[in-house]
Amino acid sequence: MSTIDFSLLPHTPCYICEEALLEKNLQVMERVQRESGAKIILALKGFAMWSTFPLVAKYLHGCTASGLHEAKLAREKMNKEVHTYSPAFKDEDIDEIARISDDIVFNSPAQFHRYYDRVKSINPNISVSLRVNPEYSSSPVDLYNPCGVYSRLGTTLANFDESIVGKLDGLNFHALCEQNVDALEGVLEAFEAKFGPFIDGLKYVNFGGGHHITRVDYDVERLIDVIRAFKARHNDITVYLEPGEAVGWQTGPLVASVLDIVRNGMDIAILDTSAEAHMPDTLAMPYRAMVRGSGEAGEKAHTYRFGGNTCLAGDIMGDYSFDEPLKVGDKIIFEDQIHYTFVKNTTFNGIKLPSLAIWTKEGELKMVHAFGYEDYRNRLS
Ligand SMILES: *Cc1c(COP(=O)(O)O)cnc(C)c1O
Repeated sequence: MSTIDFSLLPHTPCYICEEALLEKNLQVMERVQRESGAKIILALKGFAMWSTFPLVAKYLHGCTASGLHEAKLAREKMNKEVHTYSPAFKDEDIDEIARISDDIVFNSPAQFHRYYDRVKSINPNISVSLRVNPEYSSSPVDLYNPCGVYSRLGTTLANFDESIVGKLDGLNFHALCEQNVDALEGVLEAFEAKFGPFIDGLKYVNFGGGHHITRVDYDVERLIDVIRAFKARHNDITVYLEPGEAVGWQTGPLVASVLDIVRNGMDIAILDTSAEAHMPDTLAMPYRAMVRGSGEAGEKAHTYRFGGNTCLAGDIMGDYSFDEPLKVGDKIIFEDQIHYTFVKNTTFNGIKLPSLAIWTKEGELKMVHAFGYEDYRNRLS
């Protein structure tokens, strides 16, 4: 339950992460770790608010990074396990990645052959893994389906190279997106059917992300059972999960203000935020963000279309209705805007990036960072 006092907010737009809600998610993950024996690491791709990492580090084993920059952040700001996967590593990045990672995950046997000796000579203790594609997924949206047709993500069984098995410490797959444990069971069955013969002898298997562990209807009990059964089948092998979204899930809003209300066939409120720049998945997935106190269009007395303060015609959040008419200056609270938002947002159209804040367990509003003109200028030249 959100407890933020919005009257304390000095300006908008602002993402506010609620520490107590983040900790609640981490405690669910802690239970999964304790009862299943799995290790959970945070996928920075989905949530990288490093001012919260001291809290995250109390519960999780480290981070999973998608390349040099995320690996550096993981080492610098969490400094626990750093697992680095990239669809393809580059010559100019690989040495530093090898130095700062505990684990490196190659996407193809070709990348393994290209870099294995070099990585091991720089960091003899590094674990080495291959991402495989179990070619099974029930991911709801093509854009987010790593096992779709012609996917470049992970090695299929047909392209697997048995000659590297002796040098592998682990196998990784990532095939889910916002899914429950039944989807994981389907993936695991396909994974074991295809790659089962290579599992024994490995140190770990990484089940990737996309597990919606902290959603109310997620079957945590069954996840624990599935992991325990997998470990029992495979000589108590270490299992990793690397959720991103589930860590930041429902941990706070994006708060915006009404700048103007115009009419063109309907009432349209222009906000000091942007769907395109600040809530990108609402357009990419797409989905309709919930707004606190609102109903569907027409459900309550006063309906407004919400539009962003950019010149993109399609920068629209959706239609929302309210009991009272909106006024200039009113705050609009978009729920659940902490994961996959500020890791993806842009300065498109020169629009200001929302500030980052934490609503602490003690009920204080901690303004963590405000962005300005320089952030826009420095991305350009
Ligand atoms: C995106 C991604 C994750 C995290 O996925 P979520 O849906 O945020 O849990 C984990 N592992 C890999 C390889 C990914 O690409």
